[in-house]
Amino acid sequence: MESRLATIQTRNWGTIGGNIAHADAAGDPAPVLITLGASVKVGNAGGTRIIPLEDFYVDLFETALEEDELLLEIQVPTPPPRSAAVYEKFNLLSSDQGIVAVAASVSLNEDGTCKEAKIALGNAGPTGMRAKEAEGLLVGRKPDEALLAEAGLKAAEGCDPTADIHASEEYRRHLVNVLTRRMVKRAWEQAGTSV
Ligand SMILES: Cc1cc2nc3c(=O)[nH]c(=O)nc-3n(C[C@H](O)[C@H](O)[C@H](O)COP(=O)(O)OP(=O)(O)OC[C@H]3O[C@@H](n4cnc5c(N)ncnc54)[C@H](O)[C@@H]3O)c2cc1C
Repeated sequence: MESRLATIQTRNWGTIGGNIAHADAAGDPAPVLITLGASVKVGNAGGTRIIPLEDFYVDLFETALEEDELLLEIQVPTPPPRSAAVYEKFNLLSSDQGIVAVAASVSLNEDGTCKEAKIALGNAGPTGMRAKEAEGLLVGRKPDEALLAEAGLKAAEGCDPTADIHASEEYRRHLVNVLTRRMVKRAWEQAGTSV
């Protein structure tokens, strides 16, 4: 994914903290970090606090940072066994932000059923958002095409995209549907082969 996050020049100048604090709904790192259960440590001269990343985003370009606070750390927990996280964005220019992006993480029970699933959508609403209804469908189940299709539809129904010069709202929902299906399937397959 790294080679598709902006251009070499932008990657060399930009920081991941700046990317997250900027709170652009199309930023690449946020959906991935949300599915990994990341938190951010923020603080000012008076002290620090930890905020789950998904609660850090308040609105488009708006975060939970107070005026005098800095983002100090990004904390990513160790993933559980039999788990995987994947990400894909759909864009027209390979080094640009995604028209829509989907990250998915899946952790499995020993029998291959889903223990936990997280799906985070990029540029499908004002902030990076979880597709919780789609996630809920997966828990305790094994994947098949019908389940993946159902999860894709739920994610598309539950998102909140806007239309712009790149894509209509309807097209973004279609992309969320397709990418959710694809990402959940890929995460499930990779989790099954991880230790
Ligand atoms: C041509 C181009 C292509 C791009 N393509 C992509 C892409 O494909 N995917 C993608 O995700 N992004 C993309 N971006 C966005 C880019 O990744 C971000 O702009 C960049 O990561 C910001 O990082 P920075 O360190 O330069 O932050 P800055 O621009 O310096 O800061 C951004 C904002 O965050 C604040 N800020 C910075 N650091 C902190 C901190 N530690 N605590 C609190 N506030 C802070 C700043 O005050 C500012 O308001 C692209 C940008 C350009 C110009």
